[in-house]
Amino acid sequence: MRRPAPSPRRARAARLAALACALLPLVAASAAGAQGGTFRHETEHYRIETDISAQFTRLVGMHMEEIFKEYSRRFAEYGEVRQRFNVAVFSTEEGYLSEVPPQVRGSTGVFIASKQLLAAHAEDRTPEEVLRTLYHEGFHQFMFEVVSREAPIWLNEGLAEYFSEATWNGREFELGQVPTTRLHTVQQALRDGSYVRIGQLLTLNPDQWLQNVRTDAHRASLHYSESWSVVHFLIHGDNGRNASLLNDYLREIARSKPPERAFADVFKVDAGTFERLWGAYVMSLEPSPKFRCRDNMEALMLLAEMVYESPTEFEKVSDLRRKVLYTSGYHWEITRPTGQKVSSQDRQQAEALFRCPFDEGRSSVSYVVVRHVPTGMPILICDHHPGVVLKAYYRNDSPGRRRIIVEEEVRETLDPNLAQAIMAAVADR
Ligand SMILES: [Zn+2]
Ligand SMILES: [Zn+2]
Repeated sequence: MRRPAPSPRRARAARLAALACALLPLVAASAAGAQGGTFRHETEHYRIETDISAQFTRLVGMHMEEIFKEYSRRFAEYGEVRQRFNVAVFSTEEGYLSEVPPQVRGSTGVFIASKQLLAAHAEDRTPEEVLRTLYHEGFHQFMFEVVSREAPIWLNEGLAEYFSEATWNGREFELGQVPTTRLHTVQQALRDGSYVRIGQLLTLNPDQWLQNVRTDAHRASLHYSESWSVVHFLIHGDNGRNASLLNDYLREIARSKPPERAFADVFKVDAGTFERLWGAYVMSLEPSPKFRCRDNMEALMLLAEMVYESPTEFEKVSDLRRKVLYTSGYHWEITRPTGQKVSSQDRQQAEALFRCPFDEGRSSVSYVVVRHVPTGMPILICDHHPGVVLKAYYRNDSPGRRRIIVEEEVRETLDPNLAQAIMAAVADR
């Protein structure tokens, strides 16, 4: 289970409706049957039920099958899956709460072992957020049903977070992405010594974990991100030498060996030494290129807020670039969510904000602006990533309070009108 920081309400229905429209041409002949507002869809390994739309239900099926391949690749030596897994996605939190135990109130998704059910809700959440919750909870389901029922909580949550960061590239998921804020959380904790000691993390039981993550949001995010980073280290650190040992570790625990002993026996390292190696690895990591692009887009939306009186005046990225880089006497500084500052003084850094690391062309600007037709508000687009389109836009949480949202959308589900607008904007850049 994962509890996000509380997020204010917004127009969910409109977003999901847009997504549904986007999928229509793909699924006109869908076999999913609506029965009183319930949509069902079966794939090889999943039985999906939603109250959202036939299209969304099929999208969930497609994503779950693909992420299932990744779960199975990581735990290849476990037996065949005979039963289908149940997945339920509710359009409202109220619907979700009617199905899940009261203790998980406040969560956005959960796997309930006793019901063999993976449930999530889509209220106030982008489709990307809903899908990432499903990759996370879907892993708990896979772990429980296929791999082990005794997995230590840090490993179960760390792996679930690892899979929740999967990136669709149009053919398959790419794993091992390093998100900026997650990395920053762990690096900061290592710097100021507030991280959870590895010896302690390895021995936390589910009740202690729950107790710890309940205390405050930062502590919760640290537990999840630190566990993610340990999993990242085991899978990718040291040239991936330890990745295959995860199976051995789980087997030792299933044989009732205490987690810390199993860890030392399998990975041939004590908790103290491991902590040093893991810490050095985390400090050496940098955000993945996709996240550098997402960070750029957030920064450009911030700059546009500073430069234009009304957001609707933000029409071309080249115009924004001219204004922030070539207006004499105009000085600015922005602070990124990690605390890092970028200012007009550092020319190279400021220019780099306009370039996506995936852009192979030579243009000084990688991004385009399209309009959200009903409101005229700008949507900043990066069209340089395989499989997904990155979008940044403003969201009004309440009158006078605007937030910048950056999200990625699978290309196949892009609204045809938006896809067309992007093509036109790219041609016109
Ligand atoms: Zn979880
Ligand atoms: Zn990009």
